[in-house]
Amino acid sequence: MPQTHPLWLRPSREARLREIFEKELAFVNLDLCLTCGMCASGCPAAGIDGLDPRKFLRLIMFGADEVLLSSQWIWVCTLCDRCRYVCPMNINIARMVYHIRGMVPKEKRPPNLQRSCELQKKVNSTGIPNEDFVWVVNDVLQEARQEPGWEDLKAPIDKKGAEYYLNQNAKEPTVEPEEMVPLWKILHVAGIDWTYSSKWWDGANYCLFTGDPEDWEYTLRKQVETVEELGCKYYINTE
Ligand code: SF4
Ligand code: SF4
Repeated sequence: MPQTHPLWLRPSREARLREIFEKELAFVNLDLCLTCGMCASGCPAAGIDGLDPRKFLRLIMFGADEVLLSSQWIWVCTLCDRCRYVCPMNINIARMVYHIRGMVPKEKRPPNLQRSCELQKKVNSTGIPNEDFVWVVNDVLQEARQEPGWEDLKAPIDKKGAEYYLNQNAKEPTVEPEEMVPLWKILHVAGIDWTYSSKWWDGANYCLFTGDPEDWEYTLRKQVETVEELGCKYYINTE
């Protein structure tokens, strides 16, 4: 049991999570929590599976690690960070949630989430071949150009030296390809010089939500390398 806590705040059980957070996350000082409930009132996921960010902290404080590790709370939290913005004591609950996710073995994480991350590390989060992405973009573009006034619409891929690099949520070319067109039109009207890439084009970042910094960094680095290869000046992240 950590000796640094005043007697009246000493956790009733082992409180391994509390110890880890206070050691590894320098900005976490759980004793500052006023139990004011501001975090819960602004939380978009409050109530889902009983999630209550204020109770989340209490469970950590009281050493109920196992309750937390086996609850759905860490997965229904969206990591939006809203609770920290409203917290008068700047307590970063999202950072703790992220940390706990990373402690859960991969095989015990929500399977769809983990699968999407694993796919993204190979090609993209839906697993469609890159050739299919290129084909779909060109096919949808041809169709969009049939519309009067949009004959010159463009959807460039691998255009070296384009000013802006645009990534794409993989769901759209996979199941809702026509949803890509409105953004193309906006960029066209604005006169933006942009390009997709034919590889590492997926802007979703499921590896962020699994809680593994290494996986998150890997997918992000691949995107950065792609942008650098193309020589684009700006990165537009649609996710
Ligand atoms: S808003 Fe901050 S101080 Fe208030 S209950 Fe939530 S974590 Fe504690
Ligand atoms: S980070 Fe999680 S707990 Fe905090 S407000 Fe967002 S969903 Fe709620």
